[in-house]
Amino acid sequence: MTDTIALDRLHVWHPFTQAQTAPEPLAVTHGKGVSLFTGDGREILDLISSWWVNLHGHAHPAIAGAIAEQAHKLEQVIFADFTHSPAARLAARLAEVLPGGLDRVFYSDNGSTAVEVALKLAWQYWRNNGEGQRRRFLAFEGSYHGDTFGAMAAGVGSGFYEPFQELLFAVDRMPYPSTWDGDPEVEAKEAAALDWLDRWLAANGAELVAVIIEPLVQGASGMRFCRPEFLRAMAARVRAAGGLVIFDEVMTGFGRTGALFASRKAGVAPDLICLSKGLTGGFLPLSVTACGASIYEAFLGAGFDRAFAHGHSFTANPLGCAAALASLELTTSAETAANLARIEERHRAAIADLSGHPKLSRGRVMGTIAAIEVTDAQGYTAAVGQTLKRFFLERGLLLRPLGPVIYLLPPYCVTDGQLDRAYAAIRDAADTLL
Ligand SMILES: *Cc1c(COP(=O)(O)O)cnc(C)c1O
Repeated sequence: MTDTIALDRLHVWHPFTQAQTAPEPLAVTHGKGVSLFTGDGREILDLISSWWVNLHGHAHPAIAGAIAEQAHKLEQVIFADFTHSPAARLAARLAEVLPGGLDRVFYSDNGSTAVEVALKLAWQYWRNNGEGQRRRFLAFEGSYHGDTFGAMAAGVGSGFYEPFQELLFAVDRMPYPSTWDGDPEVEAKEAAALDWLDRWLAANGAELVAVIIEPLVQGASGMRFCRPEFLRAMAARVRAAGGLVIFDEVMTGFGRTGALFASRKAGVAPDLICLSKGLTGGFLPLSVTACGASIYEAFLGAGFDRAFAHGHSFTANPLGCAAALASLELTTSAETAANLARIEERHRAAIADLSGHPKLSRGRVMGTIAAIEVTDAQGYTAAVGQTLKRFFLERGLLLRPLGPVIYLLPPYCVTDGQLDRAYAAIRDAADTLL
C-alpha cells in the first residue's frame, strides 16, 4: 500500500461510497490528455471526463498556465463591494455566448449551488413582483440537480434522498419522454407528457414559480435524451402560463451535446441557466447562474429587502474565473469544433454497430455523449453496472455505467484509437459478461 492509500483509508470519507465494501481507491498521481496515471504504474483512459467535468484533457497546459499566472497576481478577494478582472471578463464573455439575452451572471461554487441560486432567484423574483401566490415548482421524473436540499427537492434521488425525504419541499413532477435512436413511440410519449403539462397548467399555472429541466439530456438518471421539439413545446407552454424556465446545463454546457449549450442546440432560451462542471474545463469548482435583465431588475430598489441576500465565501474565485476564460477560449476554437464533429461521427458509427448486438439496445448519441443499455435490464439489478465497471477498469478504461446504461462522455481531445478501445471493450463485455 502506498502512503496515499494508507492515509486515505484512515482519514478520508469518499462521496457516494459504502466504505465497508468498496474496493481500495486508485491513487492517481498525474494526468495528461485522456490518461490518468496511478502510483502503482497503471494508465487509465478517462472516458467519462472524471464525473463529466473535464473538457480538454487532464492538466491542459493553457488552463494550468492561466491559473498559475492568476495565482501570482490575486488568488481571492471578497466579492461584495469588490470585483476583479477575471470575474468581469468571464461574465462579459458568457453574456456573448449564452442564448437569449442571459447577460447577468451570479457566481457560486458548484452545480448544486448554481441550482440553489436559480431556485431562490425564481422564488424571490415573484415575491419582489408582488406575486406571492406563485409557490409551486415543477420538475421532471428522472431529473438530477445536485445534492443540497433545494437541489434534492427538485431532483429524484433513485433512493439516495430517502433519509432526507421529510425535509424536502414539495415539487410537482411531470413525465419525461425519454427516447433513443429509432424509438417508435417517441411522439406518443411526448404527446402524453405535454398533455399532462396542459392539464397541470390549467389547474395550477397561476401558482407556478418555475419549471427546472436538464435540457436534452438527463445525466445522472442514465443519459436519458429528449428531443428539441419537446423542449421547445414544453418551454412555450410554461411561458404562456407565466412561469419561469430554468435550464440546468451543469452537465450539458460547454460543448457536451455538440453545440456550445443544449439550449442553443434546441433553439430555446431559458429565463435562468445553471452552469458548472465544464465551466473551468474541469480544473476548479466554480459555477454560474445567469439570467436576463427582467429578472435582474426585479431585485433593484432603494432598500435591501428586494436584494438577493445570498453568497459564498469563494464567490467568483479569481483562479476559477481565469481557468474558465482559458477553457472557453479552447472550447470555442476551430480545433474543438472539429473534435466535437469527429467524436459524434465516431460515436454514431459505433453505436449503430453495437445496437446490432442482442444484449445491447436503445443506443443513442448526442454530440460527445454516447449511450447504450443492457437489453431487458429488469432481469439485472444495478449490480450489472458494478460488474461492468470492474470489467472496464481491468482493461484500463474508466467507464462507470449508470445501472444498465453504458455511456461514454470523453474529453474532447480523445483520439479515434482511444474511442475504438472503448467501443471494443463494450462489445467484449456484451459477448462475455451479459
Ligand atoms: C452534476 C450535476 C449537478 C450537481 O453539480 P455538483 O457540482 O456535483 O454539485 C447538478 N445538475 C446536473 C444536471 C448535474 O449533472
